Amino acid sequence: MRVLIVGGGIAGLTLAWWLRRSGINPHVIDRARSFRRSGFIVNMRGQSVQTLRAMGLDGLLAAQSAPVGRSVFLNRRGRRVRELDLSQLNSVHHDALVLNRADLHLTLYESVRDGLDLRFGLSVQALAQDADGVTVTLSDGRVERYDLLIGADGMHSAVRQLLCGTAGVRPFHIAYVAFLAPDTLGLEAANFQAIAPGIYASLGSFGQGTMGGLFAFPWSASAALTARQCRLLLMERLPALGWRFAEALAQVPDEALFCDHMAQVVLPQWQFGRVALLGDAAYTLTLVSSNGASMAIIGAQVLAEELLRQPGPAAFARYEARLRPQIMPIQRLAAQNARMMTPPHALAADLQSILFRVLPERAILARFAKAAQAAS
Ligand SMILES: Cc1cc2nc3c(=O)[nH]c(=O)nc-3n(C[C@H](O)[C@H](O)[C@H](O)COP(=O)(O)OP(=O)(O)OC[C@H]3O[C@@H](n4cnc5c(N)ncnc54)[C@H](O)[C@@H]3O)c2cc1C
Repeated sequence: MRVLIVGGGIAGLTLAWWLRRSGINPHVIDRARSFRRSGFIVNMRGQSVQTLRAMGLDGLLAAQSAPVGRSVFLNRRGRRVRELDLSQLNSVHHDALVLNRADLHLTLYESVRDGLDLRFGLSVQALAQDADGVTVTLSDGRVERYDLLIGADGMHSAVRQLLCGTAGVRPFHIAYVAFLAPDTLGLEAANFQAIAPGIYASLGSFGQGTMGGLFAFPWSASAALTARQCRLLLMERLPALGWRFAEALAQVPDEALFCDHMAQVVLPQWQFGRVALLGDAAYTLTLVSSNGASMAIIGAQVLAEELLRQPGPAAFARYEARLRPQIMPIQRLAAQNARMMTPPHALAADLQSILFRVLPERAILARFAKAAQAAS
């Protein structure tokens, strides 16, 4: 069976691994010229850790995992309002992995690269399918024929756009900047979060001399933002938050900043004859869900299992039927969390600070646990 996977990200490489294990040698193309070491923290737990264990990667990744021990909430003037010990939550999810996305991605790449036909710097330009296969026009002009095609090309999927245009994309009207960089500031081993009108900031030490930051701000334009533009917009907003947010951003070079719009993809179907969508291309959850990479991995394993059971387009319907019920509640919870990131005015931000100060610890931890359980 000839299979083309478009996108060698978390979902695409996991799918390639599982298909190769069963004797199907997919081709993979990725738009990137090489894999960038950029991005932020991804959380793995429950079913996704089991999948990584079945791939023999859990031990390697556990050595790179850096769970956050404490969470500190600051008000919109940078003063501490609450500190939470997350060790209880961590012990419930004792096998959970908190990883640098780049480490996860490169570990997956190393596990599958030998003998894999992976071509960089390539995308799809056109697709045409008939009863027997899919004809693909690649971005270098070559035309190739496959039995099945999987679009695993992320949130801005070209495959999805060829199939259904911009349908299904639900923008949150928020832009974000995420980074992991050497911690030159000597930050405390905790995650500091502050929310004010027009800006959300989260920053902390992420083990082994690394700091991780995530900044978000309301942004309704849909054009892509460059790292330089994001930096300028953040430098207008971060100083008002106080603490060390602006100082941290100043230490990070543009090339280490991962910038994007926050949006979910909610489609009525993920399968279109001989073509199926997987991971962010099909069901972007957003980074506030803490489940994007987990569900990319779980989705890839489910899709591979179904393709092995019935090697043909019928497998796609079963993959969707199995996975969709898990995706919908995570998307709903993430949309609620995103709204809390950008309070419309100072009063709303102050109310959130008061809530964080007065709510019993178990109520706040229960909310964290709810997000954590979604992919378990
Ligand atoms: C460099 C990078 C950094 C990231 N950082 C973060 C982060 O900080 N926080 C977060 O929550 N999420 C981040 N993500 C997204 C996160 O990794 C995904 O939500 C999650 O892993 C879902 O996996 P996926 O394989 O569906 O998508 P992704 O992991 O995004 O993989 C998609 C792959 O498809 C490739 N691709 C994109 N368009 C095309 C195209 N037209 N043709 C061919 N290939 C294409 C990309 O190069 C990428 O390798 C990042 C993604 C990337 C690529």
